[in-house]
Parts: sequence; structure tokens; C-alpha cells
Amino acid sequence: MSAWVEVLAPAKINLTLTIKGRRDDGYHELESLMVPLALADVVRCQATAEDRIVVRCAHPQVPTGRENLAVQAAELLRKHVCPGRGAEIIITKRIPVAAGLAGGSTDAAATLLALNQLWGLGLTVTELHNLASQLGADVPFCLHARAAIGRGRGERLQFIEPMANWPVVLVNPGFALSTRVAYALFDQNPVVNDHTSALEVARLLRDGLLVAAAQHAQNHLQDVVASHYPAVAELLHEVRATGMPFVAQTGSGPTIFAVGEDAKMAQRAARLLAGNPERLILVTKLEEFSGEKRISVNGKSI
Ligand code: ATP
Repeated sequence: MSAWVEVLAPAKINLTLTIKGRRDDGYHELESLMVPLALADVVRCQATAEDRIVVRCAHPQVPTGRENLAVQAAELLRKHVCPGRGAEIIITKRIPVAAGLAGGSTDAAATLLALNQLWGLGLTVTELHNLASQLGADVPFCLHARAAIGRGRGERLQFIEPMANWPVVLVNPGFALSTRVAYALFDQNPVVNDHTSALEVARLLRDGLLVAAAQHAQNHLQDVVASHYPAVAELLHEVRATGMPFVAQTGSGPTIFAVGEDAKMAQRAARLLAGNPERLILVTKLEEFSGEKRISVNGKSI
């Protein structure tokens, strides 16, 4: 049996996010074009003699108890598949927290993959997907980590061709925003226009038409968040002024992303945006990790 398994847990951005309505279960009906990034946490699971789940993470905003989504993923596996197993989960946090980048969801998805391997469970991708959807709307996407259009709560995935590795600048204004708060703001003032087709934006991006894709894309949470948080509105304005062709808020925010044509353009934008110590600026790119690049067992790729 493996002694430890390490899994890359990529961040995601929503290139589009349209809210189609409110569902009876209280969630919103969504359509969203989502892509994984090269920016990733590392989730390492190792065997322990005890039958408990222990999580370690040095980031001050990440809980280390049952509120941690990685712990919830491990407990779900223990409940349904293998009671009595223990593991230590060590999270190296690189994704900004509560930033609209699915940080907790991706750690949960990576934990499912890691423990499936560590505990020798042999669960299929479909079985893991079903467990992932019980943990949260973004967890199934993070499990597959492939460009997809999410519908329903975001968990019904239509995979699309991988996109080019466009460079991406992420700018976080330096404060956290909970997804719940962003949707509550939207509900107070719901948007009715709905002209975005996620598939059309994906097609434009595949053809390299970044400006046209940006013109066609929408995030229905962006205007409500920007009008309640002037720092976000200001940031959107500043990032657009760098000349990057595709600028928007990701998910519920407050992180703003900018997709550029080449790495030089992205580096230039990052330099122009630097200078405010509260801001966090990261330069990354769109990237899909295949299984071998994503999972390693006892230090070796599988
Ligand atoms: P999403 O877009 O999926 O709603 P997010 O990216 O905006 O999420 P997260 O980084 O997941 O936000 O953080 C939301 C909250 O989740 C944090 O405030 C934190 O307390 C909690 N949390 C639980 N587990 C984790 C984890 N493994 N990593 C980060 N945050 C976690």
C-alpha cells in the first residue's frame, strides 16, 4: 500500500457566469464556462496508525477542523466506503482564500483522488464524481479539472476541447468575499438580460478571438459585487486600462482575472498593477493537468 500520495489541486476561473433563475432548493440555476489554471494547491495524504483524519495547513484563513472541505471529503469516503481508516492531509496553500477561485473545492476534490489511491479503494471516476457533487457545486469540476460548461448548480458538466494555455493575471483586492454574500446581493437586484452563451464564448476563445469572447461574456455577479464594493469596481477599471483583452470577475469575486495573448503582455499588466501593498497579483495560465502530471505516489508519477 502507498505511504503517501500527492495531488495537484488547481484553481479555476469562471470565464462566464450566467444565473438563469432560482431553484426550489434555494440554489441558483447556472450556466458557466469554467477552466482550470496552472496555479494549484498541493494536497498530500499520508497513512497514519490512528483511525482519525487530521489536516494541517499553515495558511491562517484555512480552518483545520471539520469546516475544512478536505476533511469533509475524507469523512464522506469514510462514511460510505471505508469506515475506520485514518489519514493525515497536508495542504500547501497557493490559491488565495475566499477569492472566487474554488480553493476549498479543489482541495476537497484532490483529497478524494488522493485517498482513493492511498487507501486502495479503486473507485471509478463516476463514483468519485457522485461523491464530489455531495461536497459542493464546484467540487465535480475540480475533480476533472478540464475546461467545461457547468449547468444546474455548476455540477452538470459538458466537457469542451482544452483551450490554449492563455496567460492569466489574477488580481485580488486583498479582502475575502463569501459566495453566499455575493448571491444574496444578486437576489436583491437580479439581472434579467441573458445574452451570453458559454458555448459561443468557448468557440471564440478556441479561434483565438479574445476580444470578441470578452465582448460576448458576462458574469451576472460582477455588477452587483462591483456596486457594493467600490474597490472591485476600481480594480476592474484599472485592469482594463492595462490593455489586457479579456477582463472580468471570477465567480463570486472579488478576484479579477485578465486573459492576455502572450506571457509578455501578462507580465507587463502585472507590473502596471503592482504598487498597492494590499493587492495580491499572480501571473499564471490556463492549464489542464493529466492524471500522470497531477498525482504522485511515494514521490513517483502514476
Ligand atoms: P467557491 O468559489 O468554491 O465558493 P472560494 O474560492 O470563493 O470558493 P474558498 O477559498 O474555498 O473560497 O474559501 C471559502 C471559505 O472556505 C474560507 O473562508 C474558508 O474558511 C473555508 N475553507 C474550508 N476549507 C478550505 C480549504 N481547504 N481551503 C480554503 N478555504 C477553505
